[in-house]
Amino acid sequence: MSDARPTILVVFGTRPEAIKLFPVVRALAERPGLRVRTCVTAQHRGLLDQVLGIAGLTPDIDLDLMEPGQSLDRLTARLLTGLGEVIDAEAPARVVVQGDTATAMAGALAAYYRRVPVAHVEAGLRSGDIYHPWPEEVNRRIVAPIADLHFAPTDTAAAALARENVTAGVHVTGNTVIDALHWTQARIAEDPALAVGLDPVAERFAGKRIVLVTTHRRENFGGGMAAIARAIARIADRPDVAVLFPVHPNPNVGPVMDSILSGCPNVAQVAPLDYPHFVRALGLCHLALTDSGGVQEEAPALAKPVLVMRETTERPEGIAAGTAKLIGADEERIVSEVFTLLDDKAAYAAMARAHNPYGDGHAAARIAGVIADAVGR
Ligand code: UDP
Repeated sequence: MSDARPTILVVFGTRPEAIKLFPVVRALAERPGLRVRTCVTAQHRGLLDQVLGIAGLTPDIDLDLMEPGQSLDRLTARLLTGLGEVIDAEAPARVVVQGDTATAMAGALAAYYRRVPVAHVEAGLRSGDIYHPWPEEVNRRIVAPIADLHFAPTDTAAAALARENVTAGVHVTGNTVIDALHWTQARIAEDPALAVGLDPVAERFAGKRIVLVTTHRRENFGGGMAAIARAIARIADRPDVAVLFPVHPNPNVGPVMDSILSGCPNVAQVAPLDYPHFVRALGLCHLALTDSGGVQEEAPALAKPVLVMRETTERPEGIAAGTAKLIGADEERIVSEVFTLLDDKAAYAAMARAHNPYGDGHAAARIAGVIADAVGR
């Protein structure tokens, strides 16, 4: 029997998109009037699959477009044609994309070419610099004029859209990453076995303050990565400190880190953690040192100071609240900022405040409600 319900096609390809969209997929699926279909492009195969497994999400369509070392041109071309064919086959009433990846940009464009309306989750983030982050700043700007529903995580993001004359269809919902964080914390509370893989690290570093490090931005490839590695080595040289470092699989990260950090006893370089383990790592750490976007949103929610190894950020809310600080990728600056937080109790206390500018954990339900209204369900 054919299903007469309108189809909502949710498209994603990377770890952060999966983390931020699984709550939306769940909330859409709770609406009986909607038929929800998920399409993954697998822009980041391994990292994506980790999240799908934890979230219990089996994609309806898997384009599996990962190809090591492929250029942005080739990736974009393959995404555009692949997603276009999926949209033709699925005939959705609406396409949902998230954030600022090539998948989000190409998914929006492919939908636009077919006059299918687009909803953009995490709309309105802007650094103001098209090369920081690159190419994400332009990816997300391309989605803005195409989408007719813009789910801005904060008032600041909505204001950024208004500066581009995007005012219709803007809904301030909070960021779905906080939904994902709360959901995962609840799962770990029910079943601590979900995050036991960190027990050995917790034992090994008992009594030390843990600095949690992640880095993967293109802007930091090359000299930036080496500077970050040297800074980590100096930080971990302190007997009261240990570094927990889930190393991103990008080939521009691991080899540089190994060459500088492999002999450091207080550094645990580990494979990328699945989401429950990463949430536990955030809970264990004293502070986070990162160039990630998502970690800037999660750490303040857990009252952990976050030092951001970037020159600009599209997430000014944490900076304004004093729970995050932009420090760039300079070795001396990284070391001195981390040492300040380790040695100056007042500086630490000022940053280690639970602060949730990014949402209350109910963003996905709001988003599903607006989408259901838009398709008359
Ligand atoms: N993350 C994870 N395991 C890790 C490192 C990060 O699950 O080993 C999560 C993290 O909690 C955040 C997301 O991945 O929600 C961030 O992804 P990433 O830093 O790759 O991308 P960005 O947020 O910068 O786009």
